[in-house]
Amino acid sequence: MQELIVKTSKRNELIDITEKINEKISISQGFCLVYVPHTTAAITINEGADPDVRRDISVFLEKLIPVSPEFKHFEGNSDSHIKSTLVGPSEWLIVKDNRLLLGRWQSVYFCEFDGPRTRKVFIDEIKK
Ligand code: ZN
Repeated sequence: MQELIVKTSKRNELIDITEKINEKISISQGFCLVYVPHTTAAITINEGADPDVRRDISVFLEKLIPVSPEFKHFEGNSDSHIKSTLVGPSEWLIVKDNRLLLGRWQSVYFCEFDGPRTRKVFIDEIKK
C-alpha cells in the first residue's frame, strides 16, 4: 500500500491526481484501488481535458448542498460530509502497461469539500 499527499487550497475543489497515481503504480497488469481516508473528501473520475468541467462540478455541488443552519453537526461542516458521501471515498481502476487504463478524456480527481487541508490518498494494487 502506498500513500499520496494532496495539499488543497480552497474549501471546495477538484484536483487531478491521475499522473501522481501513475507514478506510484508498480505492477504491469491488474487493479488499483484509490481510497480517501477522510470524511469530507472524495474520489471521482471525470473529464480532464477541459478544466471548466471540474470547476462546474465543484460549483454545482456547492449550490446543491450549501452550508445550512438546519444542520445539527457541531463542527458546522455537514455540507462537506454530505458531498463526500454522495461522491464516495474510492474508485477501482484497471492497470495496463504500468498505467491506469482510462478513457481518452478521463482523469482521476481528488475532491476537497472542507479545505484547505493536507490530505492523504491510499493507493493499493492487485497484480493479475
Ligand atoms: Zn464534521
